[in-house]
Amino acid sequence: MSLTLSVDGDRWRAHLRAVADRTPGLVPVAKGNGYGFGLGRLARRTQWLADGAPRDPDRPGPPQCGDVLAVGTYHEVAEVVQRYHGDVLVLTPWRPFGAALQIDPAVDPGLSGRVVHTISRPGDLAALLERQPDARYVLELVTSMLRHGMTPRELRGLEGLTARGRLEGVALHLPLAQGSHLSQVERLLTDVVAAGLPTHTLWVSHLTADELERLRSAYADFTIRPRIGTDLWLGDRGALRVTATVLDVHAVERGDVFGYRSRTAPKSGHLLVVSGGTAHGIGLEAPTGDQSLKSRAASLARGGMDAVGFVRSPYSIDGKQRLFAEPPHMQASMLFLPAGARVPEVGDEIDVRVRYTATTFDRVVIS
Ligand SMILES: *Cc1c(COP(=O)(O)O)cnc(C)c1O
Repeated sequence: MSLTLSVDGDRWRAHLRAVADRTPGLVPVAKGNGYGFGLGRLARRTQWLADGAPRDPDRPGPPQCGDVLAVGTYHEVAEVVQRYHGDVLVLTPWRPFGAALQIDPAVDPGLSGRVVHTISRPGDLAALLERQPDARYVLELVTSMLRHGMTPRELRGLEGLTARGRLEGVALHLPLAQGSHLSQVERLLTDVVAAGLPTHTLWVSHLTADELERLRSAYADFTIRPRIGTDLWLGDRGALRVTATVLDVHAVERGDVFGYRSRTAPKSGHLLVVSGGTAHGIGLEAPTGDQSLKSRAASLARGGMDAVGFVRSPYSIDGKQRLFAEPPHMQASMLFLPAGARVPEVGDEIDVRVRYTATTFDRVVIS
């Protein structure tokens, strides 16, 4: 009855462990829909990674894997803190208003001691330290993404402020790989060093394993903390399968009326009602992962629009992507199966291609 994410548990866990083993200082990212798995599940998994991480005899304290979990927003903090014992880095910068202020040392000192804030404007640091003199924070530097972050000049202007509270490092949010990021990172690190900050920890995203390795050897006195979501949780797609249930099957002849818009069937075949609709994030376009104009034009030419005016759906049967008979409904979708195709039975499961970060599954089943 559901849109289901089925996970080959052994394979998934082996992948998570392998990523952790080859990524020193890994900071798992759990945000949004929890990459399809849900935030709570990712928090428990992060605890599992931390519990199984080898101890470094040269470094006291917890192993540097899973000792910090990054969440996207302050609203998400509550979703993870009960299921996981370590620190929580909030990626959305702290502001002197809104949900950030719910992390209040006067209300829950235990929790505020675990939270690491991201500071992206000089004035916010002063405001945070005023509210919480022992606040933990990272300073975000603006990158070519131009999303959040301070300029090198603003960083230098902080002066004595960074001696207060607990500065946990400098954070860089880099765009998704387009050539090498290293020259940009090196330029920014030069600014960090010039600012004379009392920290040698660098939090980064979207660097390749090779770039991380080169950074580590070029800046051996820095601790590098790679923040990774997609390549960790979704890095082994072969361990994941998404299926929908066939809820109903109707034989139709050419001219038969169906659907919310009372369309008529353009030819004979079957209408299939399957689970999954707009509420799950099922959209009109099947995700291709390739959004270039050329590929979109190609997919249209290939029959993205069927000759009878149906749009390709993300559902496939017998390895063939099927057409929507009409736009997805809220929790179900109608597909058109032309005469001649094998007709699945009510209760059968069929494959669906989804964007994991934009899909709400009814069930997540981990073997
Ligand atoms: C989402 C996010 C990440 C993780 O991104 P993935 O592409 O899922 O690995 C890292 N850093 C920041 C600041 C983010 O917002």
